[in-house]
Amino acid sequence: MNEVLILGEVKDGSPDLRTLELLSAGKKLSDAAGGGCSILFMGDSVSGAADKAAGYGPHKVYRVEHPLLKGFQPDLWLNALAQVCSEIHPAVLLMSHSFVGMELGPRLACRLNSRLTTDCIDLAIDPEDGLLLRTKPVSGGNAISVFKCPGDPQLATVRGKVFAPAEPGDSPREIVDIQTKIDPSMIRVESMETVKEETVSLDKANVVVAGGAGLGEADGFELLEELAEALRRSFRNVMIGCSRVAVDKGWISSDHQVGLTGTMISPDIYVAVGISGAIQHLVCMIHSKKIIAINTDTGCNMFKVADYGIVEDYEDIVPALVEKLEELS
Ligand SMILES: Cc1cc2nc3c(=O)[nH]c(=O)nc-3n(C[C@H](O)[C@H](O)[C@H](O)COP(=O)(O)OP(=O)(O)OC[C@H]3O[C@@H](n4cnc5c(N)ncnc54)[C@H](O)[C@@H]3O)c2cc1C
Repeated sequence: MNEVLILGEVKDGSPDLRTLELLSAGKKLSDAAGGGCSILFMGDSVSGAADKAAGYGPHKVYRVEHPLLKGFQPDLWLNALAQVCSEIHPAVLLMSHSFVGMELGPRLACRLNSRLTTDCIDLAIDPEDGLLLRTKPVSGGNAISVFKCPGDPQLATVRGKVFAPAEPGDSPREIVDIQTKIDPSMIRVESMETVKEETVSLDKANVVVAGGAGLGEADGFELLEELAEALRRSFRNVMIGCSRVAVDKGWISSDHQVGLTGTMISPDIYVAVGISGAIQHLVCMIHSKKIIAINTDTGCNMFKVADYGIVEDYEDIVPALVEKLEELS
């Protein structure tokens, strides 16, 4: 059977947003392949997430529960996932391009002698041979390629925010328990410590004020923070973003980075300060609703996509903007 299987991930007892996005990608494929699209949850206690996922109209929900699957232990999850594949033989297995997907995908491809395509931004089924067509950016984001290769199953990790999340379905679907044989001798990682860092969820920002190499020094971000603070009087969720050069120079941490190797964003307002608009940056902020660029170079790429452009040294214009915003608030 041409079953498309989604590896689900759980957040706060529910399927996470990426899983729902994968489900809509998987349904599109299973419609074309003539099979069903099912979701698999693995863990020590995933019944709640499985029940909720059943309401989003998958063909089936598979549940693998085992005390040793508590937390994410790559060695054990790999063994369990390989056993699931040999039991239900999905034609396609999709994972999020998340920490879990990136850890498991290559290991599973190696274990099952299959081939994996990572970070896909589109998927389709080739009507001629039924193989998965995997579209992904290549050459540092300068080109898009479509890959096709056999595999049992055909494996891909999928970038977040590319597919709209699945909507709840009409009636809950069947939940199937799968027993897997795993034991502590399969564990090769002796200890794992989770360090909680304060993270910046740039993709949830309504307004992003971003700085690039044009700031000239780390202190430039202090000026941007003043602008962000002034904007917070009128807008919710205003965050600081940056280009990769600003991160490479050590001016700001990488969780602020917008771009291909950073975060993909689509805020209501994007303010690009001293950012030239390299393709690897542009592709991940171009869907911002309004783009405001501040740059001294009239020919820079950022002006080509900006709704409003200010040709000025940021050190002059940013304080003037802050003053005006304060006056207006
Ligand atoms: C595989 C790969 C992945 C990449 N991933 C990313 C990514 O995720 N994100 C990313 O951002 N980049 C990424 N890059 C790097 C990217 O190609 C560019 O090098 C980078 O985006 C340029 O950053 P920038 O615009 O800050 O710097 P620059 O290109 O140097 O631009 C600086 C700009 O500041 C302007 N400026 C100078 N002084 C002032 C001033 N006083 N006031 C106002 N404006 C001023 C200049 O006119 C210029 O336009 C990647 C590259 C590769 C190869």
